[in-house]
Amino acid sequence: MSDSVTRTTENTTSETKVVSNFIRHIIDKDISNNKNGGKVVTRFPPEPNGYLHIGHAKSICLNFGLAQDYHGVCNLRFDDTNPEKEEMEYIDSIKKDVSWLGFKWQDEPKFASDYFPQLHQYAIELIKLGKAYVCSLSPDEARAYRGSLTEAGKDSPYRDQSVEENLDLFARMKQGEFDDGAKVLRAKIDMASPNINMRDPILYRIRKIEHHQTGNEWCIYPMYDYTHCISDAIEGITHSLCTLEFEDHRPLYDWVLDQLQTPSHPQQIEFARLNLNYTITSKRKLKQLVDENHVLGWDDPRMPTISGLRRRGYTPASIRDFSERIGVTKVDGVVDMSTLEFCIREDLEHSAPRAMCVINPLKVTIESWAEDEVQDLSAPRHPKDESMGRRTLKMTRVIYIDRSDFEEVPPPKYKRLTVDKEVRLRNSYVIKCEQVIKDEQGEVIELRCSHDADTLGKKPEGRKVKGVIHWVSEQLSVPAEVRLYDRLFTEENPDAAAKNHEDDDSHFLDFLNPDSFMVMADARAEISLADTQAGDAFQFEREGYFTADPDTTSDKLVFNRTVNLRDSWVKAGAK
Ligand code: ATP
Ligand code: MG
Repeated sequence: MSDSVTRTTENTTSETKVVSNFIRHIIDKDISNNKNGGKVVTRFPPEPNGYLHIGHAKSICLNFGLAQDYHGVCNLRFDDTNPEKEEMEYIDSIKKDVSWLGFKWQDEPKFASDYFPQLHQYAIELIKLGKAYVCSLSPDEARAYRGSLTEAGKDSPYRDQSVEENLDLFARMKQGEFDDGAKVLRAKIDMASPNINMRDPILYRIRKIEHHQTGNEWCIYPMYDYTHCISDAIEGITHSLCTLEFEDHRPLYDWVLDQLQTPSHPQQIEFARLNLNYTITSKRKLKQLVDENHVLGWDDPRMPTISGLRRRGYTPASIRDFSERIGVTKVDGVVDMSTLEFCIREDLEHSAPRAMCVINPLKVTIESWAEDEVQDLSAPRHPKDESMGRRTLKMTRVIYIDRSDFEEVPPPKYKRLTVDKEVRLRNSYVIKCEQVIKDEQGEVIELRCSHDADTLGKKPEGRKVKGVIHWVSEQLSVPAEVRLYDRLFTEENPDAAAKNHEDDDSHFLDFLNPDSFMVMADARAEISLADTQAGDAFQFEREGYFTADPDTTSDKLVFNRTVNLRDSWVKAGAK
């Protein structure tokens, strides 16, 4: 495989540029040595205990992308060993997100719970080999026996029970004879190992609760570390990619497979997880934001979840592009939010038609324009792509401009509208402000203007008009609600900022940005947008990229600001 390839993903016409990385180098070598018969089989193994976030997107693009590039396959496998935290809603959302990103898993989605019978058989095998035992220490006792980073652990008094006794106790655990926590099945490895994961780790625990896939069939559930390696082996995974925190678990992964006659022994390879600044990528904390109503739901457009990004207006192509740009390494780092924003801007710059929308309207009456006259003006949908066609704007006597485009007392070099000065209406005429109307509080409520009828599509005679502002007709425009978003947190790293509170890790909430969501309820969009459907994206000229929200109805358009036109965001500290 060459160092730089282009990948075309299902359901899209766009291509993702792929750069080589250390995992590709490992795979290239394995293929040239004909390891695994030259095959590549990967898997994406989410636990269905929340919605997927942008970090998972990196893992999805990596696993499915490798399978695609090496003509292999990738499984979607739900790691469902914790029934108390898992839900069908999450399973459905995960399938939807992976498909939306443009990837296809092999066959039906798989579940670790599909392998509960085999995992149970393998556990019996370990007991028979004298490599596992039933331990009756209480959780507190077990903790004390485990030792610490600097101190070796102590052998459990149950470690030397006979095989027969262990088989009997394990069978009775399975039959439900014991309470939750009363007994566990542990691997017999080494209580003095410097790696705590190897100090006789738990393989099975008792949990008398219903499972979303297996119902009440089981009251003992296998632990993640034990389940994961065997599931990989059963599926014939060749390269089992996971994030760096599992590096210390790799000896256990290999130990389990070394003891048992599993169909294969996959290779675990760790890579650095994605961290993004001004947000969090922990499912548990994202769930807390949702459960405590700090956001409007998992798909709140401020959330770094795939569903939130989708609602905000991010495209699958932009997220795939982002995942490739940030690369795959062994070093943890923090990626700047502006990188993600750059990717969606790049995509929408090409694909989003232009339109005009006045977000904060100020009424303008053009007194030189006849009362009932409506003139159709034509404008391109995209300045660089004629194939997108043209749209019709309606010029009328009363229009709206944005409040921010008028200043009574303009700052130096002001190019927008001010008293007695001229400005061009985008795709229309030059107008001049003749009079300012105010309400009793002194607030500007209307401008009276004149227009120069000789300026449509040409420069005004004998003078220069530099400014161009956007506008819409008052009566021939559509009402819209525009939702503006900012960073969800005020701190680059909300967790680090909260580090003084070691006993309570919910202090990241102290740094929620109170101004992250603003609703502009009285916006007006040009009439060509009347049939906008949820998901349609536009560049609102001079304002940014906006995507219609699912809340859009036939009476009212609702737009989310996906991203600004430029990276104009200033760091809080730099203001
Ligand atoms: P969280 O800590 O947010 O709950 P997790 O790692 O426990 O995340 P899983 O559902 O187990 O969530 O993750 C599925 C896969 O996605 C795993 O292989 C995991 O390594 C990977 N993954 C999770 N978070 C990230 C991230 N931030 N960057 C890259 N990969 C990630
Ligand atoms: Mg996990």
